[in-house]
Amino acid sequence: MSTIFDKILSGEIPCDEVFSDEKCLAFKDITPQAPTHILIIPRKRIQSLKEIKEEDKALIGHLLIKGTEIANAAGLESWRTVINTGEEAGQTVFHLHIHIIGGRKLSWPPG
Ligand code: AMP
Repeated sequence: MSTIFDKILSGEIPCDEVFSDEKCLAFKDITPQAPTHILIIPRKRIQSLKEIKEEDKALIGHLLIKGTEIANAAGLESWRTVINTGEEAGQTVFHLHIHIIGGRKLSWPPG
C-alpha cells in the first residue's frame, strides 16, 4: 500500500528536508505539534512497528541514532520520540515514522 510518504521519498511531493541518507529521510512535520516536530522515515517500505523483523534491527537502530543527532542539531535539551502504531494509537500514515517533538514543555500521560 503506497502512502504520501512514498511520494515524499520519490520527490513527487516536496518536503522540508532536515536530513537524508541512503537508509532514511527526515523532514519537518506539516502540522507541527511543538516548535520542533520532525519525522524520520525509512526508505524501506514498512507499514508500522507491527511489521518489523529481526532483519530490520540495524535500520531501526539507525533511525533512532539519527533522531538523537537531529534533536541535538536542533538544539533540544529534552524531546519526545513517538512511534504511533495502529489506528487506535493515532497512526494516520502507514509508513513507519518516528516523531521527534520538542521545544516546549510536554505533558504526560498522552491523550
Ligand atoms: P501519525 O499520526 O503518527 O501517523 O503521523 C503522521 C504525521 O505525518 C502527522 O503528524 C502529519 O502531520 C504528518 N504529515 C502528513 N502529511 C505530511 C506531509 N506531506 N509532510 C509532512 N508531514 C506530513
